This record gives sequence, structure tokens and C-alpha cells, in this order.
Amino acid sequence: MAIARVIVDVPAQQTDRPFDYKIPEKWEGLVQPGIRVNVPFGPRQVQGFVVEITDKSDFKKLKSITSLLDVTPVLTKELLSLGFWLTDTTLSFAISTFQAMLPAALRAKYEKQISLINEQHLDHLHPSVQPLFKSSALIDWGDVEDSDVVKQIRDDIQKGFLEVIYTVKDKARPKYIRCVEILASLEEIAVYIDKLPDSRQSHKLILEFLQSSKEPIAVKDIEANLKISPSAIKTLVKKGLLIEKQVEHYRNPFENQQFEKTVPLALTNEQRKVLDTILLDVNKNQHNVFLLYGVTGSGKTEVYLQTIDSALRNGKEAIVLVPEISLTPQMVKRFKGRFGSQVAVLHSGLSVGEKYDEWRKIQRKEVKVVVGARSAIFAPFENIGVIIIDEEHETSYKQEDHPRYHARDVAIHRASVHQCPVILGSATPMLESFARAQKGVYTLLSLTKRVHEQAMPAVNVVDMRDELRSGNRSMFSTLLYEKLKDRLEKQQQTVLLLNKRGYSSFIMCRDCGLVINCPYCDISLTYHKRDKALKCHYCGYSENEPAICPQCGSNHIRYFGTGTQKVEEELGKVLPEARVIRMDVDTTSRKGAHEKLLSQFANGKADVLLGTQMIAKGLDFPNVTLVGVLSADTTLHIPDFRSSEKTFQLLTQVSGRAGRDKLPGEVVIQSYTPEHYSIQLASEHNYDEFYQQEMQIRKLHQYPPFYYVALIIVTSPELMKAVDVTEKITTFMRSQLTDEAIVLGPVACMVPRINNRYRYQCMIKYKKQPNLYTSLKRIIDHYQATSSNELTIAVDVNPFMLL
Ligand code: ADP
Ligand code: ZN
Ligand code: ZN
Repeated sequence: MAIARVIVDVPAQQTDRPFDYKIPEKWEGLVQPGIRVNVPFGPRQVQGFVVEITDKSDFKKLKSITSLLDVTPVLTKELLSLGFWLTDTTLSFAISTFQAMLPAALRAKYEKQISLINEQHLDHLHPSVQPLFKSSALIDWGDVEDSDVVKQIRDDIQKGFLEVIYTVKDKARPKYIRCVEILASLEEIAVYIDKLPDSRQSHKLILEFLQSSKEPIAVKDIEANLKISPSAIKTLVKKGLLIEKQVEHYRNPFENQQFEKTVPLALTNEQRKVLDTILLDVNKNQHNVFLLYGVTGSGKTEVYLQTIDSALRNGKEAIVLVPEISLTPQMVKRFKGRFGSQVAVLHSGLSVGEKYDEWRKIQRKEVKVVVGARSAIFAPFENIGVIIIDEEHETSYKQEDHPRYHARDVAIHRASVHQCPVILGSATPMLESFARAQKGVYTLLSLTKRVHEQAMPAVNVVDMRDELRSGNRSMFSTLLYEKLKDRLEKQQQTVLLLNKRGYSSFIMCRDCGLVINCPYCDISLTYHKRDKALKCHYCGYSENEPAICPQCGSNHIRYFGTGTQKVEEELGKVLPEARVIRMDVDTTSRKGAHEKLLSQFANGKADVLLGTQMIAKGLDFPNVTLVGVLSADTTLHIPDFRSSEKTFQLLTQVSGRAGRDKLPGEVVIQSYTPEHYSIQLASEHNYDEFYQQEMQIRKLHQYPPFYYVALIIVTSPELMKAVDVTEKITTFMRSQLTDEAIVLGPVACMVPRINNRYRYQCMIKYKKQPNLYTSLKRIIDHYQATSSNELTIAVDVNPFMLL
């Protein structure tokens, strides 16, 4: 008997193992590891992944697979085993991992329906429920809106008149387009055209139009091109001259864009040396991890492009990861320009359908290169020649939800299977990565100069306390103002960064000092000027801006902190002639808005590009000669051991936007703590010294890269429960680990309450703990068995966000 072992879509501890199902005879041979199936699970149908075919089972009575969802596996053998590895190393469920590896369209959609168990029960139903089942014994749960009726339905379910059933729907739908092509012979058509009356000349147009094409043409294109009515085509189909076809069509977000073909540039000496080193391994199919440490504008991307070119020539494929935020049209253009239609692009701006189509191009081997954000690391290529991670220090490469994986770890794992190199590129490598390169775990490659040997921009750090003392209360220092004005006169462009992290715009009463907090989370509400509302960024709670202080009744209640809108207004006051493009979450929330604003700036439609972190990276505008940072310190004050590193990275990245072409660049950094080493060293472009100093601090405080960190977060609506359980966990972990581990807890999390749940944590710092994973797994297992809304336990190994 053929048996399939299936991981079912029920993410829970008890179901986190393969279940055995009989393969009906008609599907033997079709069912293979890596395909999706529907299977019965308890009273319902669920989706699952076949992970193994076998002929033995420990269970006697097996249920059968209900249906097959794929003909070709959606997970290759390699990806299946990668999935299990990830499940182990991130302590998540196999089903969550497999789903994270695939485009959302392949995830099952369950529809809850209610069915009348037996005709005779109709009369017994509650009077308000009865009418619903008069015409059909099956209704969609989603159609029932009235909450009283919902209650009655629950009652009738309890009484055994109704039952809930789940149906699985596959969301993966290729898009088809109605096309036509010629069916009749040349002679038949000639005869037909000859006999056409004057009133039907449109038929002639259509036939001639189609004769000129070898492929079927979309009906809507014919209609648009020839300006004819739909009925004419229908008539021709009826007469047997044309035939209708449904042709699959990829939803292509770049359909209307032309990419100018580019050719490899003649490399600088530094680039040449770096490329040659990488190519040795590419050509020998040798696994290696390179850390490409290259200053901003040193031409890292050109090195990536030429490496990929070689991999493709060897008949291999390439994966390129870029941070979501820098997956701009500029970036896409560089890859599509070089490799044309061999490139698939995967990023979150695409619709579910578009992503699915891009993914299928990869699966069908119609493309050779994928450029995408984090999850593109799971591209189902089978012959990878190189994996590139640009801006490797970016935190967005770590997924903050199950499975909590880091794309770098996945890249290195896949590359070792495919025997190919990984390139990690950055102007400000993560401390951990640079330390690994120092130790020889990674191979360090450097690009120390900008491509045309342009000087790094000159950086001025302005002490904002001095500005205040000398009477300047505006948000622009005198220096920044003068330079802004100078650029306006010279018709050069400026990038202005508002370093906005954390909770910078809140409402405070000036009389009693009350700060308005979220009623459910211990965090201040953020002021949103556009809808005059206060919103909680953790739970989504929202309330109207109060007119008076809810505590003392004073009307001196006002908004503190700075938003981009505020900066724009201020700028308008001091430099009314400046044309400003503002980029923040508000102006870029609509699809395509991000790209539109950037291309306006590129085309010189504005003098100043003002924005938050999203403008700091990857942009390459030749006319930008000034970068201003309004508030360098904000990232410094986040209680996170990486805050200095993040500040240094941000300042370096944004400074790198200035003077990338012929014109020299300048930077003004405004700060209230200008003496801080991360600001000083960023202003000197001195990564090496920053690395040395920061390493000393990390060593002193026992943080990465000297120690690994694992974090266990316990949440509960009851404070005592959260503390109590965290206490137990801490004690347990101490008993399991060796003395070398530092187990800290229980302590309140940085945000001690979110959404009315108290949050406590146990932090473990360690170097080598053979028992760590099994102990963490035991905690998860133990609390999963009893878990409920009362208690959640989350484990994050190598956390990036310490909330
Ligand atoms: P990075 O990614 O290191 O910041 P880029 O790859 O964006 O740098 O390169 C900066 C600029 O220099 C780009 O406009 C790029 O087209 C150009 N460039 C890169 N390499 C060369 C080269 N060998 N010759 C001429 N121009 C180059
Ligand atoms: Zn007050
Ligand atoms: Zn909240």
C-alpha cells in the first residue's frame, strides 16, 4: 500500500509531525514529496504538504488523501530538508516554515460553512435561523452578520441540528486571457473577405490583423487596436474562421516599463581584484562566504552584476536579496537592464497574484535571476551559482514572526548545499559579520574608494545645544540653513533625513505634564496629524485628539516631537521657494507612490527630498550634493544593545547619498550629543575605529558577537502569572545550562504591556550550550500543552528586536 506522510496545516505542538494517509490507487505515482494535498483531519479538511512516500505505517486504519493540489512539487527536495532544518533551528512548527517558504497564494484558504445535518431538523431550528436554511442546506459563515443570529446558530449547533464544516480553497489562480487566432485556411479567408458586404469591413480588418501574427491575440487588444465591437469577433468565431483560446498570462508589474540594455562596465582595479577572487569560487563550484565591505558608492552592485553574469554563463542561477526599502525601480532597473527577462522580482509591493506569477517563472526555470526581499531566499532554483545579500546589516533580513529565521543563515545553508559562494555586501557590516571576517570564518574583501575616486563627503556635526544657546529655536541650524539656501541657488539637490524612530511625536499637557498613553499598552500614543488622531503603534488603538487635558482640564495640551509634516511646514516658512518632496508612511502608503515620488525627484521636480529612514538607503541621484540629518540622536536612545551600531549605520548610509557623481558632496548632522562616538566616527567615515570601540563595549557587557543571545518572552493578561511563569522558566534554564551561560530574568520587557497583556522576559547569553535547544524546546512543549489565551511563550534565538 502506498502511504503519504503529510505535514498538516494545524500549527500546534500536538500536530507538529507527519501524519500518514493512504494514497488512492488512481493517484499512485502522482503523489510525491513536496506537493500540496487536501486531507481529512478530525472533522475537517485541511491542506498539507507531502514530505515522504512510504509503504508502511504504524497505524491500521488510515484515511485517504482527498485531493491533490499540485502536479509538480512546490517544494523541491532541497527545500523540504531546508524546511526541517529551519524548523529545528528556529524552534517553530514545520507547517509554519513550509508556508513561509512559499508565496502567499499557495497558502490554503479555509471557508467556514454551516450545514443543516438533516432536512427534518429544519423545523426545530431557532426561528431567526430557520429562514437561512429554507433554500439551501449549506450557508457561508461569513454571510451571517447579525450577532444575535450568530448566537442562535451556535445554540443550534450545540443541539446537534447544524454542523460546521470547513472547505479548503486554493488561492493560487493563474490568470487567463481570452484570445483568438485564425482557424480557417488562407483560401477560406480570402473567399470570405471577397464576399464581405461594405457594412462588415471590420471583419476584414480583424482577419488581416490576426493573419499578421503567429500567436493568439487577446480579444481586448484587438478591440482596442481596431476600434471594433465585440460582436464582430464573436461572429467570426461562430462562422469557424477564428478559434477562441484561454491563454495564460503573467501578471507583470513592470509590463509597461522598458529597461534599457546595459553592458558590463570596465572595472576599477579594486573591483577587478574583488571580482577575480569571487569568480575563482564561482567557477570551481566552491562554497565560501565573502564579506564585501565597500564604502558607499564604491561600485558593489557592478561587482554583483558581473558575478551573476559569470554564474549564468556556467549555466547556473543567482539569488540577490536587497532590503525591502531599497527595492526601488532604480535597483530593479540595474538588474533588468543587464539581464532583461531572465530576472524575476519579488517584493511586498506586488499583489498576491503578481508574486505568485513571478514565483512560477522561477519554478518553471523561465528566469535565472531573482531579486527580492527576505523571503526570496527560498526561490525554488535547483542549480544556484551565487547568492548575494546586499546591505547585509539590515535588520529586515530577520523575520520577526514564526519561523524567526535570518536570511543570511538560510543563504549560507543553501549555498553549502549548492556548493556556491555567498556575498554579503555592506558599507557598514554588522558587527557580528565583521568579527567573523576578522576570524577568517568569512573571507573579507574590501572596496575602499569610490568609483571615480570622488572624495567621501565632508561631514559637519552641529551641536544643537549651542544653537539653542545662541537663540536659534528653529529645527534648522544656521549652518544647515545656509547650505540649503546655497544649494537652491546652485540648483543642486538636498536629501533631508528626519531620524524618526520610537515615540517621537506624542501629546503632552504643559500644565500637569500628562503624556497620553495607550490604555492597553505601556507606551505613549503617536500623534497623527492628518486624521487628528492618537494611535497606538503596537495594538492599533486609536482615539481623537483631545481638546483639553483629560487629567487637569487645561487647554495647554500640545503635540511634541517632530513629524515630517512639521519639518515640511517649517521649511516652507524659512525657504518658501524650495520645492519639497516628502516621503514617509503617509505619503507612500498607496501602491506605486514610493516609486512615483522618487522618479519625480530624479527628474529634478524638487529641490529637497525630505523623509524618514526610507530615504537613507540605496538611492543614487547624481545631483544630490547636500545631505542633512535633523536629529542624529533619536536612534541612540532606544534601549537596545545595537543602538550605537544602528546610529552609525544610518548616518553612514545617508551620508553616502551625497556627492556620488561628479559634484562633491557635503553632510550636516545635527545632534544634541555630538560627542558620542557613533556620531563622531560616522562623521569621519571611520568604520574600523567604530568597530574597535563598539567591540570593547560589547565585550564588557557580554553581548554579541562575544555572546549569543536567546530571548524568552512570556505574556499574560495577568501580571502575576507572567512574572511567575518567567520565574519558573528562568530557574529551569539555569538548571539546564552550564555556568558559562548568563541567565537574566525575570525582568519586564522594554514595552512592559502590549494590548493589555503583561510582558516579561528571560534573556540568555551564552557561547556554547549543547543543551540550549532541547531545553528551549521543552519549555515550548510544556507550555504549549497547557497554553491558552492566558499565557503565551515566544522564543527568539538571536533576536533583533528587543521589545
Ligand atoms: P555601491 O553599491 O557600492 O554604493 P554602486 O554600485 O551604486 O555603489 O556604484 C556607484 C555608481 O558608480 C553607480 O552609478 C554605478 O553605475 C557606477 N559604477 C560602478 N562601477 C563602475 C565602473 N567600473 N565604472 C564606471 N562607473 C561605475
Ligand atoms: Zn493636564
Ligand atoms: Zn496599544
